[in-house]
Amino acid sequence: MRTADRLHAFYDRMLSRLGSQHWWPAETPFEVMVGAVLTQNTAWKNVERAIANLKGAGLMSLAALSALPTGLLAEYIRPAGYYNIKAGRLHNLLHFVTARHGDDLGAFLAQPLPQLREQLLSIKGIGRETADSILLYAAGLPIFVVDAYTHRILVRHQVIDEEDDYDAIQELFMDSLDGDAQLYNEYHALLVRIGNVYCKKKNPDCAACPLQGM
Ligand code: SF4
Repeated sequence: MRTADRLHAFYDRMLSRLGSQHWWPAETPFEVMVGAVLTQNTAWKNVERAIANLKGAGLMSLAALSALPTGLLAEYIRPAGYYNIKAGRLHNLLHFVTARHGDDLGAFLAQPLPQLREQLLSIKGIGRETADSILLYAAGLPIFVVDAYTHRILVRHQVIDEEDDYDAIQELFMDSLDGDAQLYNEYHALLVRIGNVYCKKKNPDCAACPLQGM
Protein backbone atom coordinates (compact mmCIF):
# COMPACT_ATOMS: atom_id res chain seq x y z
CA MET A 1 0.00 0.00 0.00
CA ARG A 2 1.27 3.51 -0.81
CA THR A 3 2.33 5.66 2.15
CA ALA A 4 -0.44 8.17 1.43
CA ASP A 5 -3.01 5.38 1.45
CA ARG A 6 -1.63 4.03 4.72
CA LEU A 7 -1.84 7.45 6.34
CA HIS A 8 -5.46 7.78 5.22
CA ALA A 9 -6.19 4.29 6.52
CA PHE A 10 -4.64 5.12 9.91
CA TYR A 11 -6.81 8.20 10.15
CA ASP A 12 -10.01 6.39 9.24
CA ARG A 13 -9.29 3.63 11.76
CA MET A 14 -8.45 6.03 14.59
CA LEU A 15 -11.43 8.28 13.95
CA SER A 16 -13.88 5.39 13.69
CA ARG A 17 -12.61 3.78 16.92
CA LEU A 18 -11.90 6.88 19.02
CA GLY A 19 -14.16 9.59 17.57
CA SER A 20 -13.39 13.28 17.35
CA GLN A 21 -10.94 14.47 20.02
CA HIS A 22 -12.02 18.15 20.18
CA TRP A 23 -8.42 19.21 20.53
CA TRP A 24 -6.91 21.77 21.39
CA PRO A 25 -8.60 22.10 24.78
CA ALA A 26 -8.62 25.90 25.16
CA GLU A 27 -11.23 28.62 25.32
CA THR A 28 -9.39 31.20 23.18
CA PRO A 29 -6.54 31.46 20.66
CA PHE A 30 -4.53 33.22 23.37
CA GLU A 31 -4.97 30.27 25.68
CA VAL A 32 -3.79 27.95 22.88
CA MET A 33 -0.63 30.03 22.53
CA VAL A 34 0.09 29.91 26.24
CA GLY A 35 -0.62 26.17 26.36
CA ALA A 36 1.64 25.52 23.35
CA VAL A 37 4.62 26.94 25.26
CA LEU A 38 3.71 25.36 28.60
CA THR A 39 3.29 21.87 27.15
CA GLN A 40 6.91 21.62 26.04
CA ASN A 41 8.37 18.52 27.73
CA THR A 42 5.49 17.95 30.10
CA ALA A 43 2.18 16.12 30.34
CA TRP A 44 -0.97 18.05 29.53
CA LYS A 45 -2.42 17.60 33.03
CA ASN A 46 0.45 19.75 34.38
CA VAL A 47 -0.32 22.44 31.80
CA GLU A 48 -3.95 22.44 32.91
CA ARG A 49 -2.88 23.18 36.48
CA ALA A 50 -0.66 26.05 35.37
CA ILE A 51 -3.42 27.51 33.20
CA ALA A 52 -5.90 27.17 36.06
CA ASN A 53 -3.51 29.23 38.21
CA LEU A 54 -3.37 31.97 35.59
CA LYS A 55 -7.12 31.98 35.09
CA GLY A 56 -7.78 31.96 38.82
CA ALA A 57 -5.63 35.08 39.18
CA GLY A 58 -7.40 36.79 36.25
CA LEU A 59 -4.19 36.83 34.22
CA MET A 60 -5.23 34.96 31.07
CA SER A 61 -4.96 37.89 28.67
CA LEU A 62 -2.20 39.24 26.47
CA ALA A 63 -2.12 42.56 28.33
CA ALA A 64 -2.05 41.01 31.81
CA LEU A 65 0.49 38.27 31.12
CA SER A 66 2.91 40.39 29.15
CA ALA A 67 2.93 43.01 31.94
CA LEU A 68 3.63 40.44 34.66
CA PRO A 69 7.26 40.30 35.87
CA THR A 70 8.91 37.13 34.54
CA GLY A 71 9.72 35.85 38.05
CA LEU A 72 6.09 36.14 39.10
CA LEU A 73 4.89 34.49 35.90
CA ALA A 74 7.25 31.59 36.68
CA GLU A 75 5.55 31.09 40.04
CA TYR A 76 2.07 30.89 38.48
CA ILE A 77 3.19 28.34 35.89
CA ARG A 78 5.30 26.26 38.27
CA PRO A 79 3.09 23.10 37.86
CA ALA A 80 4.09 22.93 34.16
CA GLY A 81 7.73 22.27 35.06
CA TYR A 82 10.84 24.10 33.74
CA TYR A 83 8.92 27.13 34.92
CA ASN A 84 11.74 29.68 34.81
CA ILE A 85 12.63 28.70 31.24
CA LYS A 86 9.01 28.61 30.16
CA ALA A 87 8.23 31.98 31.76
CA GLY A 88 11.11 33.47 29.73
CA ARG A 89 9.91 31.80 26.53
CA LEU A 90 6.33 32.90 27.10
CA HIS A 91 7.46 36.46 27.65
CA ASN A 92 9.63 36.36 24.54
CA LEU A 93 6.54 35.35 22.55
CA LEU A 94 4.13 37.80 24.18
CA HIS A 95 6.53 40.72 23.98
CA PHE A 96 7.14 39.95 20.30
CA VAL A 97 3.39 40.19 19.68
CA THR A 98 2.78 43.32 21.74
CA ALA A 99 5.78 45.14 20.23
CA ARG A 100 4.23 44.75 16.78
CA HIS A 101 0.49 44.60 17.37
CA GLY A 102 -0.19 45.95 20.86
CA ASP A 103 -3.01 43.95 22.42
CA ASP A 104 -4.37 42.89 19.03
CA LEU A 105 -3.54 39.19 18.96
CA GLY A 106 -5.98 38.74 16.08
CA ALA A 107 -3.84 40.97 13.84
CA PHE A 108 -0.76 38.89 14.67
CA LEU A 109 -2.53 35.61 13.93
CA ALA A 110 -4.18 36.94 10.75
CA GLN A 111 -0.87 37.09 8.88
CA PRO A 112 -0.17 34.69 6.00
CA LEU A 113 1.13 31.29 7.11
CA PRO A 114 4.74 31.55 5.81
CA GLN A 115 5.20 35.01 7.33
CA LEU A 116 3.69 34.09 10.67
CA ARG A 117 5.70 30.85 10.86
CA GLU A 118 8.93 32.67 10.11
CA GLN A 119 8.16 35.22 12.84
CA LEU A 120 7.31 32.55 15.41
CA LEU A 121 10.47 30.59 14.65
CA SER A 122 12.56 33.74 15.07
CA ILE A 123 11.48 33.99 18.73
CA LYS A 124 13.94 32.46 21.20
CA GLY A 125 12.46 29.30 22.72
CA ILE A 126 9.79 28.76 20.05
CA GLY A 127 10.64 25.64 18.05
CA ARG A 128 8.84 24.02 15.16
CA GLU A 129 6.32 22.01 17.18
CA THR A 130 5.33 25.01 19.30
CA ALA A 131 5.16 27.33 16.29
CA ASP A 132 3.09 24.89 14.26
CA SER A 133 0.73 24.24 17.19
CA ILE A 134 0.08 27.99 17.36
CA LEU A 135 -0.38 28.20 13.59
CA LEU A 136 -2.81 25.28 13.45
CA TYR A 137 -4.73 25.58 16.69
CA ALA A 138 -4.66 29.32 17.42
CA ALA A 139 -4.60 30.73 13.88
CA GLY A 140 -6.52 27.90 12.17
CA LEU A 141 -3.90 27.62 9.42
CA PRO A 142 -3.29 24.36 7.54
CA ILE A 143 0.02 23.04 8.81
CA PHE A 144 0.65 19.58 10.26
CA VAL A 145 2.02 19.41 13.81
CA VAL A 146 4.60 16.70 14.40
CA ASP A 147 5.39 15.52 17.91
CA ALA A 148 7.18 12.66 19.66
CA TYR A 149 4.03 10.51 19.51
CA THR A 150 3.81 10.96 15.73
CA HIS A 151 7.42 9.92 15.34
CA ARG A 152 7.12 6.89 17.62
CA ILE A 153 3.91 5.56 16.05
CA LEU A 154 5.15 5.96 12.47
CA VAL A 155 8.51 4.34 13.26
CA ARG A 156 6.81 1.39 14.94
CA HIS A 157 4.60 0.92 11.88
CA GLN A 158 7.62 1.28 9.57
CA VAL A 159 6.16 4.28 7.76
CA ILE A 160 9.28 6.35 8.51
CA ASP A 161 12.83 5.69 9.62
CA GLU A 162 13.99 6.38 13.16
CA GLU A 163 16.27 9.18 11.94
CA ASP A 164 13.60 11.03 9.92
CA ASP A 165 13.33 14.55 11.30
CA TYR A 166 10.49 16.98 11.93
CA ASP A 167 10.54 18.54 8.47
CA ALA A 168 10.58 15.19 6.66
CA ILE A 169 7.65 13.85 8.69
CA GLN A 170 5.65 17.04 8.26
CA GLU A 171 6.27 16.98 4.51
CA LEU A 172 5.11 13.37 4.34
CA PHE A 173 1.77 14.23 5.94
CA MET A 174 1.26 17.41 3.97
CA ASP A 175 2.08 15.71 0.68
CA SER A 176 -0.26 12.82 1.49
CA LEU A 177 -3.30 14.63 2.92
CA ASP A 178 -5.48 17.47 1.66
CA GLY A 179 -4.32 20.86 3.00
CA ASP A 180 -7.20 21.10 5.42
CA ALA A 181 -6.68 22.61 8.88
CA GLN A 182 -9.58 20.63 10.36
CA LEU A 183 -8.13 17.35 9.07
CA TYR A 184 -4.64 18.19 10.38
CA ASN A 185 -6.18 19.19 13.69
CA GLU A 186 -8.07 15.93 14.12
CA TYR A 187 -5.23 13.73 12.85
CA HIS A 188 -2.72 15.20 15.26
CA ALA A 189 -5.19 14.95 18.13
CA LEU A 190 -5.86 11.28 17.37
CA LEU A 191 -2.13 10.51 17.27
CA VAL A 192 -1.73 12.23 20.64
CA ARG A 193 -4.48 10.04 22.07
CA ILE A 194 -2.93 6.86 20.63
CA GLY A 195 0.53 7.82 21.88
CA ASN A 196 -0.73 8.81 25.28
CA VAL A 197 -2.98 5.84 25.95
CA TYR A 198 -1.58 2.92 23.93
CA CYS A 199 1.73 3.59 22.21
CA LYS A 200 3.77 4.37 25.29
CA LYS A 201 7.54 4.51 25.16
CA LYS A 202 7.76 1.29 27.14
CA ASN A 203 5.32 -1.63 26.88
CA PRO A 204 2.98 -0.42 24.11
CA ASP A 205 -0.51 -1.90 24.47
CA CYS A 206 -0.86 -3.12 20.88
CA ALA A 207 -3.59 -5.61 21.73
CA ALA A 208 -6.00 -2.86 22.78
CA CYS A 209 -4.78 -0.19 20.31
CA PRO A 210 -7.00 0.92 17.39
CA LEU A 211 -3.95 0.73 15.10
CA GLN A 212 -3.28 -2.91 15.93
CA GLY A 213 -2.70 -4.96 12.78
CA MET A 214 -2.06 -1.97 10.53
S1 SF4 B 1 0.48 0.61 20.47
FE1 SF4 B 1 1.13 -0.90 18.98
S2 SF4 B 1 -0.53 -0.94 17.48
FE2 SF4 B 1 -0.74 0.96 18.65
S3 SF4 B 1 0.37 2.51 17.51
FE3 SF4 B 1 1.79 1.65 18.97
S4 SF4 B 1 2.85 0.03 17.87
FE4 SF4 B 1 0.99 0.51 16.75
